[in-house]
Amino acid sequence: MADCLFCKIISGEIPSKKLYEDDKILAFYDISPIAPVHFLVIPKEHIQSVDAIDEKNSEIVAYIFQKIGQLAKEAGIENGYRVISNCGADAGQSVLHLHFHVIGGKELSWQA
Ligand code: AMP
Ligand code: ZN
Repeated sequence: MADCLFCKIISGEIPSKKLYEDDKILAFYDISPIAPVHFLVIPKEHIQSVDAIDEKNSEIVAYIFQKIGQLAKEAGIENGYRVISNCGADAGQSVLHLHFHVIGGKELSWQA
């Protein structure tokens, strides 16, 4: 997608601090972390949000979750973490390319 920030990060047009990359996904550190460790995991295929996951593209979601535990360890998270995907306006989704926030490195509070 020409006008998508995360597609530009995937192509290298916009730099990022990479944690992991393969042919299907990219993990990179969030530019404004909300916890001591905060990285994002995204599919290389442009999918707009959780709302756009369907039977044709859902395999990548399982693949991402299969990788998250090891990536959290590699990022130095030792005592648990939270995975978040903001979907749509009320959730505050600001980049319309599916992404999973992984946050940890401290005891997290829980509020909405
Ligand atoms: P969301 O608000 O859930 O759509 O999350 C988008 C996230 O992308 C936010 O946490 C931003 O801090 C992060 N972000 C925006 N631009 C960049 C960038 N160039 N590199 C890394 N993270 C970014
Ligand atoms: Zn995109």
